[in-house]
Amino acid sequence: MIKFLDLQKINLAYQQEIEERLLSTFRSGWYLLGNEVKNFEENLSNYIGAKHAIGVANGLDALRLILRTYIEMGMMKKGDEVIVPANTYIASILAISDNGLVPVLVEPDIDNYNIDISKIEEKISEKTKAIMIVHLYGKVVFSADLKALAQKYSLKIVEDNAQAIGAEYEGIKTGNLGDAAGFSFYPGKNLGALGDAGAVTTNDDEFAKTLRALANYGSNQKYINVFQGLNSRLDEIQAAVLDVKLKYIDQENTRRREIAHRYFSEITNPAITLPQLPQDGNEHVWHLFVIRIQEREKLQTYLTENGIQTLIHYPIPPHRQEAYKDMNHLSFPITEKIHNEVLSLPISPVMTDSDVEIVIDIINRA
Ligand SMILES: *Cc1c(COP(=O)(O)O)cnc(C)c1O
Repeated sequence: MIKFLDLQKINLAYQQEIEERLLSTFRSGWYLLGNEVKNFEENLSNYIGAKHAIGVANGLDALRLILRTYIEMGMMKKGDEVIVPANTYIASILAISDNGLVPVLVEPDIDNYNIDISKIEEKISEKTKAIMIVHLYGKVVFSADLKALAQKYSLKIVEDNAQAIGAEYEGIKTGNLGDAAGFSFYPGKNLGALGDAGAVTTNDDEFAKTLRALANYGSNQKYINVFQGLNSRLDEIQAAVLDVKLKYIDQENTRRREIAHRYFSEITNPAITLPQLPQDGNEHVWHLFVIRIQEREKLQTYLTENGIQTLIHYPIPPHRQEAYKDMNHLSFPITEKIHNEVLSLPISPVMTDSDVEIVIDIINRA
C-alpha cells in the first residue's frame, strides 16, 4: 500500500541523531525552557530570517497568542474583526474567536484555493484590525497589493504558516512576510515533532517580549506576573527533535517539489483539476498535493482499492461546522465547491520514484 504519509519512515531517516539528542535531554535533568528550546529558537529565526522565534505548545496556541499579544498591547480589543479565508483549517478561525475577536470570512480563489486578495477590501470595516493569511497546502499567499491594502487601513498581517515552512515569496520566507506568524510542528506537518509543538516568529521586539511572557503565565521573571497568561511552552524534548529535523527541511521540501512536478506533468486524466504551480519567484513546499474532481467518492474508493491512501482536506468548511452555528447561514459557494471536490494525493519526502509512478499510473487509468 502507498501510504498518504509514512511518518515512521520520515523520522527513521534521522533515528541516530534524534536518539542522541533525546538521550542527552533526558540526562540533562532540564525539561522546559532550557538550551534545546533556546538553540531551536535561534536556528528557526535564522532560517526564517525573522528577528525573533518563540517556541510554544502547538500551532493553535501560536495563533491565539499572536492575537492575544495585540490585545495586551492595546492594538486590538474584543469585538474587533480579523479577516481570514473561508477555506482554511478551523484552527485559524478558532484562534480569532477564542480571543473574543470576530472572524470575517473571505472566499478563496478557485484556482489556488487561497484567499482571493481582490475580495478583501470590501470586507474591511472600521472594526477590522488584521488580515490573517493562511499559506494553505504549502502555497504562499502574498502580494504587493495585499501589503498596500494592509498599510492603507493600518491592518496587521498575521501569517498562519502551519503548512508552509520553507516556502518563499520573492526570496522572503513565509513567516517573515507579515507582522507575526504562527507555526505548527504537529507530527504530520512538513517539520513535524514527536507530538504537539509550535512557534511564533516576528521582527517586533516589544511584541516578542509580550508574547513570550503570555506563553509563560504572563511572566518574564519567575513569580512576577504582568499578564493573565497561559501555559503554552515548547518542551525541551520536542525542541531537540525539531532542531535535528530543521537541518533537513530544505532537502525534504525539494523532494516534495520533485514529486509535485511529476504529478503535475504526468497526471493526464481529464476529469481531474490539478493544483496551480507557483508563479515565478515563489517557492511552494507542497505540504499537500490537492486535486479537484467532481466524482470524488468514486475516485477515492478506486484509489483505496488499488492500494493508494488519500485524504480530504477538508470535508466540512468552518462556517458549516456545528461549532460556528452563528455562521451556518452564510454562503461561500467557492469554499463549498472546494470542500466538495478536493482530494489529497500521497506526497512526502520518503516516497520513492516507483511509488510516484504507481500513483500516476493508477490515476491515469481511473
Ligand atoms: C495544523 C494547523 C494549525 C494548527 O496547528 P496545531 O499544531 O495542530 O495546533 C493551524 N492552522 C493550519 C492551517 C494548520 O494546518
